[in-house]
Amino acid sequence: MHPCLSIVIPLYNEDESLPELMEWIARVCNEHNYSYEVIMIDDGSTDNSWNVVKELMKQYPAIRGIRFQRNYGKSPALYMGFKAAMGDVVITMDADLQDSPDEIPELYRMITEEGYDLVSGWKKVRYDNALTKNLPSKLYNGVNRAITGIKLHDMNCGLKAYKRKVIKSIEVYGEMHRFIPVLAKHAGFKKIGEKVVQHRARKYGTSKFGWERFINGFLDLLTIQFTSRFGKKPMHFFGVLGAFTFFTGLLFVVMLVIDKIRFGDAVGLTNKPAFYIALTSMIMGTLFFLSGFLAELIVRNAADRNHYIVEEDTTK
Ligand code: UDP
Ligand code: MG
Repeated sequence: MHPCLSIVIPLYNEDESLPELMEWIARVCNEHNYSYEVIMIDDGSTDNSWNVVKELMKQYPAIRGIRFQRNYGKSPALYMGFKAAMGDVVITMDADLQDSPDEIPELYRMITEEGYDLVSGWKKVRYDNALTKNLPSKLYNGVNRAITGIKLHDMNCGLKAYKRKVIKSIEVYGEMHRFIPVLAKHAGFKKIGEKVVQHRARKYGTSKFGWERFINGFLDLLTIQFTSRFGKKPMHFFGVLGAFTFFTGLLFVVMLVIDKIRFGDAVGLTNKPAFYIALTSMIMGTLFFLSGFLAELIVRNAADRNHYIVEEDTTK
């Protein structure tokens, strides 16, 4: 028997928030008669968080705890939580009390009754630093929407709800927690929605992410778009790029040869820009091709090269 609801909470140095958070979650879940589990992943906290989790486990049997040996990051913590989750609906939330457990029932309803695969929270009114977080975040989400085509206002909101199949089909790693909706879309889940959620100022502790999140996030976005398109056939990318660059170089060689035939030794070959363009283009083109072959070798040996998500299989 699995519970109808799993709540996954990654936490890093949040000991002060945990008791209040858990009490609130339990109150909401009991009011709505959910059978639920709360999976707390202590991401190598250096404060008293793990002891607090263990104390809370005595008080609330619904809690299951995982502790990392060191700090790996929010994505690895979510990965472990998703692996352990057994509920039909899985909800993630931050541990710092910035997300409100009062949102759980409506998120749950949208998944179970309205048939959403994924519902992302949208902190429409936000209680973080305006200059370092709110403004860049707006810009960043705009770029995100343009590149991925997913119309979400707050892609990186920690409060999200999923059908179980979604989180079992995707693999969050590195810092990809910012792009779970993109991963879900690439896995073929279409019904992705959002819900305006209440946001609260951080009551205890400090934020774990600074401005570098936007640079790293943008690089990860490029990676994710690249791997989803060419991850299984890298040569289709490197081959086209390599051929184009190489033949551009070759064109310049032909030009140089024609000049040589027409004017003979009167013009030096190596003091023309065309010579250097030809040289670099042909070398770069060859390197692109080589990268493509290497990438193909890696894909060929990847353990998940034949990993597909099946919607229905009636052959069994
Ligand atoms: N977190 C984590 N590992 C980390 C950094 C953060 O598990 O290495 C957790 C953190 O404890 C919190 C959530 O991720 O529950 C969001 O972090 P934070 O509140 O610092 O982010 P912000 O609200 O500032 O975006
Ligand atoms: Mg926070």
